[in-house]
Amino acid sequence: MAVVRLCHLYPRELNIYADRGNIAAFDRRLAWRGHALEVVEVEVGDPLPTDCDLYYLGGGQDRDQAIVAADLRRGKADLARLADDGAVVFAVCGGYQLAGHGYTGVDGARMEGISLLDADTVAGATRLIGDLVIAVELDGRESTVVGFENHAGRTQLGAAARPLGRVISGNGNNGQDRGEGAVQGRVVGTYLHGPLLPKNPWLADLLLGWALEHATGASPRLEPLDDAMESAAHAAAVTRARKPRR
Ligand code: GLN
Repeated sequence: MAVVRLCHLYPRELNIYADRGNIAAFDRRLAWRGHALEVVEVEVGDPLPTDCDLYYLGGGQDRDQAIVAADLRRGKADLARLADDGAVVFAVCGGYQLAGHGYTGVDGARMEGISLLDADTVAGATRLIGDLVIAVELDGRESTVVGFENHAGRTQLGAAARPLGRVISGNGNNGQDRGEGAVQGRVVGTYLHGPLLPKNPWLADLLLGWALEHATGASPRLEPLDDAMESAAHAAAVTRARKPRR
């Protein structure tokens, strides 16, 4: 049995659209294979644990992001070194924006990020809202990933990051270049909420594989699970997303 340690950053502020459900998906998918997930919740002012395999940042409204942004830069600066050493970082929406160089919010105020991702975000005049389907190719494997986006931020990637996926339906990073999310090493950012992972078991297992490798030092073998329900949820979400909007 292996134990994966997950650091949940700012569960109080960064948890819209039940982003916490992503952690439940990690927990169950490990438990069904005889492994365990240990979750450490870290709030503003708490020290950053340096012994975790997976660091998780959820989404939030601009005012929630403003509460955590300074603390993230000042108190959680070790995150960059940990990511360089192979820890996995998974960041959703507001967390994704702060994992980049920063976010200029709807009121024009700048929130500096921690530059784990070569990405920068500026809020636009409208919100990009709706179901979102992307085609993802990661670690030599391909799948569609589906979720829900709701953000004012328009994200542009620099040369060091590449998009997580290509938009099939929806807006993605900026509604223009068809890119969605960002990947840089084992740091992954995305605009997909939902929560995302219960209906995208492929992505959940990919991230878990990386985290297990960090925890055990060995390439893990993740036995296939009966994902009939997860696949049905995925298919239903893709069908809904691809319906023309009224
Ligand atoms: N507040 C950010 C924006 O509007 C992030 C939103 C979110 O996390 N859903 O772009």
